[in-house]
Amino acid sequence: MAAYINRTLSLMSGDGPHNRPPMPNVIPSLRNSHDASPLQIFVKAKKKINDVFVDIEDYVKDTVAYMHALEDKKIIVEQDSIKDVEAFMLKVKGIRDVLTRDHMKVAFFGRTSNGKSTVINAMLRDKILPSGIGHTTNCFLQVEGSDTQEAYLVTEDNTEKQNVKSVGQLAHALCKEKLNESELVRVYWPRDKCLLLRDDVVFVDSPGVDVTPNLDEWIDKHCLDADVFVLVANAESTLMVTEKNFFHKVSTKLSKPNIFILNNRWDASASEPEYLDQQLANEQEEVRRQHQERAIDFLVRELKVYTAKEAEDRIFFISAKEALQARLQEQGQGSHTPLVEGFQTRYFEFQDFERKFEECISKSAVKTKFEQHSQRGKHIASEIRSILDKIYESAQRMKEDKLSDKKQVHDKLNYTEQQLILVTHEMKDKIRHMVEDVEQRVSTALSEEIRRLSSLVDEFSLPFHTEPLVLNVYKKELHLHVENGLGSNLRARLSTALALNIESSQREMYDRMEKLLPEEKRRVMITVLPRREPFEILYRLNCDNLCADFHEDLEFKFSWGIMALIQRFVGSNKKSKKQLNYLNNRPYNYNPNTSIPMSPTDYEFNTSSTNSSLIGSINADDWSFLSRVALASMGSQGTIGGLLLAGFMFKTVGWRVIAVTGAVYGALYLYERLTWTNKAKEKQFKRQYVQHATKKLRLIVDLTSANCSHQVQQELSSTFARLCHLVDEATGEMDVRLKDLEIEIRSLEEAAGSAKVLRNKANYLSNELDLFEDAYLRSQH
Ligand code: GDP
Repeated sequence: MAAYINRTLSLMSGDGPHNRPPMPNVIPSLRNSHDASPLQIFVKAKKKINDVFVDIEDYVKDTVAYMHALEDKKIIVEQDSIKDVEAFMLKVKGIRDVLTRDHMKVAFFGRTSNGKSTVINAMLRDKILPSGIGHTTNCFLQVEGSDTQEAYLVTEDNTEKQNVKSVGQLAHALCKEKLNESELVRVYWPRDKCLLLRDDVVFVDSPGVDVTPNLDEWIDKHCLDADVFVLVANAESTLMVTEKNFFHKVSTKLSKPNIFILNNRWDASASEPEYLDQQLANEQEEVRRQHQERAIDFLVRELKVYTAKEAEDRIFFISAKEALQARLQEQGQGSHTPLVEGFQTRYFEFQDFERKFEECISKSAVKTKFEQHSQRGKHIASEIRSILDKIYESAQRMKEDKLSDKKQVHDKLNYTEQQLILVTHEMKDKIRHMVEDVEQRVSTALSEEIRRLSSLVDEFSLPFHTEPLVLNVYKKELHLHVENGLGSNLRARLSTALALNIESSQREMYDRMEKLLPEEKRRVMITVLPRREPFEILYRLNCDNLCADFHEDLEFKFSWGIMALIQRFVGSNKKSKKQLNYLNNRPYNYNPNTSIPMSPTDYEFNTSSTNSSLIGSINADDWSFLSRVALASMGSQGTIGGLLLAGFMFKTVGWRVIAVTGAVYGALYLYERLTWTNKAKEKQFKRQYVQHATKKLRLIVDLTSANCSHQVQQELSSTFARLCHLVDEATGEMDVRLKDLEIEIRSLEEAAGSAKVLRNKANYLSNELDLFEDAYLRSQH
């Protein structure tokens, strides 16, 4: 390598060994373009991975917000998952913090006064660290870039920033502090002043390895994160055991440390030109070869960190002092001291070291620092992806469940509505039939009871008296007796059968409707519906009003009297006429086919008007003209007529027959007159009452039966209406449930959609990190 450099330099300069080397400012610089610097690999990689982590940070924040939103929406998200992702937030923040602090760290080791500080200064192109006699570094000095315009230092014990304007001040400050040899003093130097610092290279100068036995402590404290170790050896002597020992220890703690060996003070080995001859040159070459061999042997065989070929590229023969001097002159600083023979070669080798060092530190730092960040980033992305996968799957599952719930509810709702229409039709029919049946039964039963009215009246046993006041009371009681008797007889005949019928109809309604109701509503139905007391029809037979117009006729009437005979003759005619008249004037026109339910007003009717018309019909004088004439003549001229008839009879039949007939007739009259007692009057009264009540009651048969059927209809309709109400409530609840389900399904769809988007973002971020690894980590091997 060195030979190659020598040859190249000779070709470049055209100088012989005796010529002065050209001025440093004409030496081609490897750092013409800042972007071409290998350090840019680290800088760009750092920027790239930082950008990816900014995305990851946003991504984790979005995911946490998303998961909290799911929590709010009551979509099941495991608390542990949320905590996991929240923990990632802290992790990413931690990685970003580390990333901002990530730098390339180079640690310089070697014995005291080998020129470590001078090498650092030469690389930094400035006299930053004090060097030389009296300025032995007695602690760890770390030089790193700062964004401030002023340089300052911070010690471990004193975090206060101490301004450092010059090397003198720094040396003074270092002297002032009572420093332990393994203590770290951080020197912050304005980045703008130095390219290496700007590119995040951190330099660590150490006390000489020969001055301390605490190598382990040093390594643990300051070296484990170093990307490159530079051993500054003295070219005037061979590698010392202490120097070697240090790296042995390092290699036990770090698997494959990057080591450069700088044989410094190589200028001191160069002879003054006037004494330089071929023999000396050969000797120098021999020294170099020996140093090289030993160093290679150390790296290859002892430390086992490189192959022989790799090791060649890690060993340099330089003069840090000259390099620093040349660079200071380049910047117009420092004195123009004459440069000794071979400077160019050494300077070029120094630059070569710098280039290789930059490449090495850049790649190493990218690998050691960013590889683990990238791995962690990928781990975070994959963990979050699997959490999101779970959420996505469970959201999809829940959505499927909700969809099937929705279908079920929808089907149930449709079914219930259809069934309700069907059942309503059937129940209407049923109620109509029931109503007709009840009407029919009540009508028949009442008619029969009316026919048996006389026996009911006969059962009335209150003492009878013709005295008007007593008779009035008697009548009232009789009304009541008839009313109660009829009522209880009807109840006895009908109630059980009707109640059974109604109950069975109601039971059928319950059964039919129960099937349409959900479980919880069924329980409500049980509490709401079945009546505690069985339904009973009220037979409203208001005899008091109905027979209010009854006027008894308790005057004695000889049954064989002429009036009675005429009446008897006319009576049969009148009866048939009256029946006809009644049929033509049905008081109540109830149509059982009217719709259900009926309002009670449908059944109202004007009792008084009906009664009056009935009474009117009863009072209507249907007697024939002939009868009227006969009756009138009999009534007014009865006595004269009787005498004429007697005279006529006397002449034709003979007095004996007449006398016998008269006697019999008289005896009959006498007999009837004598038997016209209170008992006979009561009987007559009851007969007249039965006649009257029968007429009146017959008129209200239809009305009563309609009324009863109406009661039944009301009962059944209201039961059905209550059941319908329950079903309506249930369908209403189903509607609400459907709407709720739709909202839930939409929300689950959104949740699944967002989970998918976030999951894809995790893939994207993983991919970005893969690309990063491809670009900066894998291509380096
Ligand atoms: P450190 O103790 O290892 O940091 O050594 P310094 O950098 O302080 O250097 C000690 C002395 O060696 C200083 O006086 C330097 O000027 C001198 N020195 C450093 N490098 C070279 C070099 O390459 N050639 C010569 N001749 N002297 C050097």
